[in-house]
Amino acid sequence: MRPQELTNTILENILTKVSPQIYKTYFEDLSIVEIKENTLRISCKNFFIKEVIETRYYQTLNNIIKTILRVDNIQIEFIVKNKIDEIKKESKPKTLFEEITFNKFQDDFQDKKLRESFLNPKYTFDSFVVGSENQLAHAAALAISENPGSAYNPFFIYGGVGLGKTHLMQAIGNAIIKKKPNYKVLYCTTENFLNEMIQSIMQKNSLKFREKYRALDVLILDDIQFIAKKEALQEEFFNTFNTLYQSGKQIIVASDKPPSEISHLESRIRSRFEGGLVVDIQAPNLETRIAILNNKLKERNEFLPDPIIHKIAEIIDSNIRELEGALLKISIYSKTNNGNITINDVLKILGHKITEKRKKITPLEIMQLVADELKIDIKEIKSSKRNQEISYARQLCMYLLKDILNLQLIKIAKHVGRKDHTTVIHGITRIEDLISKDINTMQLINNIKSNLNK
Ligand code: ADP
Ligand code: MG
Repeated sequence: MRPQELTNTILENILTKVSPQIYKTYFEDLSIVEIKENTLRISCKNFFIKEVIETRYYQTLNNIIKTILRVDNIQIEFIVKNKIDEIKKESKPKTLFEEITFNKFQDDFQDKKLRESFLNPKYTFDSFVVGSENQLAHAAALAISENPGSAYNPFFIYGGVGLGKTHLMQAIGNAIIKKKPNYKVLYCTTENFLNEMIQSIMQKNSLKFREKYRALDVLILDDIQFIAKKEALQEEFFNTFNTLYQSGKQIIVASDKPPSEISHLESRIRSRFEGGLVVDIQAPNLETRIAILNNKLKERNEFLPDPIIHKIAEIIDSNIRELEGALLKISIYSKTNNGNITINDVLKILGHKITEKRKKITPLEIMQLVADELKIDIKEIKSSKRNQEISYARQLCMYLLKDILNLQLIKIAKHVGRKDHTTVIHGITRIEDLISKDINTMQLINNIKSNLNK
């Protein structure tokens, strides 16, 4: 069989084993490069796809190939397309090898775009489950992918950890490079962006840095909350940001909190963010969590009974990354037990999550511990008293309510009997400042935290 024929037969078989979506994402561009002794070399479009096939679909692929070639023992080796040219150079064409047409590799261009963009191709709109909690963010993201630079600019997504911010913003980027191959897209964490900026300032080539970013059509900056407290860098950041913004380039930003709650954020940057579209992603409800689990199972070509899926979704009730981790554990358990799994097994495997939840810490508990440590009455924290000791206790409460429970500033204000969130920002800043230089504050906070965990 010629490599091309073999490739086609293998692909046809795969299509009967996985969903069309999975096929399109991972297998469509796969091709046989050569068969040497009992090693079959397969090229994958990029590194991510190679990873996924190797870890999740190796067995499926191996079985298919063994059946087609009628052999018992075959090694499969995966390579990434751009490595193929090197092989071509190093080895004299073999009989099978000669027949290979490399026209499939014409889309190297697209591949290069992907590598340059630092986008992960697995984060697509197709693999993103829409629920009421992320509907608005999803709709806006779709609109931006259709009309980058004009629909909503900048686009600011915020929400808790593991709720899909990175996935959604990368889905925009992936959709854009697919539809508009000439567009320059860059995904970058704020940390990396700032590091690069610092380097450029130190090496006195800020101009080059700005030019690099000016050449982009779409800049995707993740975890922008890292810019807090780095006041010295915000000036340069603002300049780069403005240059892009004013030339109509799309800017997409994600953060764990809204612009108004990023402490020490220059007001002009904040108002730039707020001048675009700001949307939040909330924790998924039970229905969405079940849909996400079903989607992941389908992607992996795996099966679990409905009551089991339901139970996992019930136990892991916020973070989607955790939900994926839990699913993986349960899948592995089920596989090693020939597909047998009971609700009790799920409880055993994920049980610690339930006890963790029972120990839910309340704001009142935190405030009581602060009052106890400082030997004052908790009522005084809520009072209008402004003497040093009471103010300090109040500020400690503000800091801990944010740090431990990640409450919204306005809610914190309410708990400590204050009207607006600026007082809270001030309080938190003061404690953050003290933590870095005052041993007593450091110890106090440690004591309170360890008492909470008892
Ligand atoms: P964040 O950036 O908000 O911390 P991520 O985007 O990294 O969260 O998401 C964590 C994991 O959960 C990723 O693997 C992502 O693919 C998955 N995920 C999040 N939201 C969804 C969704 N709505 N549908 C499918 N998978 C999701
Ligand atoms: Mg993220």
